[in-house]
Amino acid sequence: MTSRRLFLETTAISGVSAALLALTSALQAQAASPKRTRQPVLFIGHGSPMNAIRTNAFTSALSNWGKRLQAPTAILVVSAHWLTRGATGITANEQPPTIHDFSGFPRQLHEMRYPAKGHPELALAAAKLIKSNPSVPTTQWGLDHGTWTVLHHLFPDANVPVFQVSIDYDKPGAFHYAVGRELQALRDQGVLIIGSGNIVHNLRATDRGTPDSKSASRPWAQAFDASVKAALDQREDKALQAYLALDESAKMAVPTPDHYWPLIYALGAAGDTAPTHVFEEFHSGTISMRCLQFA
Ligand code: ZN
Repeated sequence: MTSRRLFLETTAISGVSAALLALTSALQAQAASPKRTRQPVLFIGHGSPMNAIRTNAFTSALSNWGKRLQAPTAILVVSAHWLTRGATGITANEQPPTIHDFSGFPRQLHEMRYPAKGHPELALAAAKLIKSNPSVPTTQWGLDHGTWTVLHHLFPDANVPVFQVSIDYDKPGAFHYAVGRELQALRDQGVLIIGSGNIVHNLRATDRGTPDSKSASRPWAQAFDASVKAALDQREDKALQAYLALDESAKMAVPTPDHYWPLIYALGAAGDTAPTHVFEEFHSGTISMRCLQFA
């Protein structure tokens, strides 16, 4: 009887009231599941692991950025520090370990942990989406410093599950872009996709005495960063994939592509939108800390 009475009452509602009811229930549904909205894509220039324990313009920008983001269901990071060959790895741990993949830094940094859980279910969904390469879910990796040193500032509560996708280092730019595109469907499941690297990253030419600055001391670093910024703003995706032809400074700015490829994953996952430049600065004269958000 109750359901019958409810049915009768519902059908008696006027058109305007029905529309209001529909709007109210839609808003209630949205409020009940705020994590279901399509997530943006970020690229973060991470620089030195020391940024995890420093307070500077970069770390303040990350903290403020995190406060503006809607809470995601999970975070997928393509980090410059997980390189594989012949396959794409995906971390599928329930509780990924914090990896201290560096040496010679203060004990405080070595003792840091980022205790976010993993998300094996979404990791397996990511593995299924990747068609360009054999994809291998694994528990043999965790959160490397390309991931946790920035998430420490972006999501300091570590209450969002995190998993990583590796970079198959044998492959060219078009491949990394294609994998990014394949992963983009996860954004509709509330997954925040982050590429973590650096657009300009030449540690051999680094001068640690150079102060953090918007304009690097090295002209080739500035030139390449500016060329990439211009190409991003015009969404010249093919030119960005073939970065060696983008600017004559490319070989100095990107002596090896490990820190550049995460940008191409982000670009692939980004859809057609132009990026917002959230932060730009150079550290040590030769590391571009440029950070981007797509949509
Ligand atoms: Zn790095």
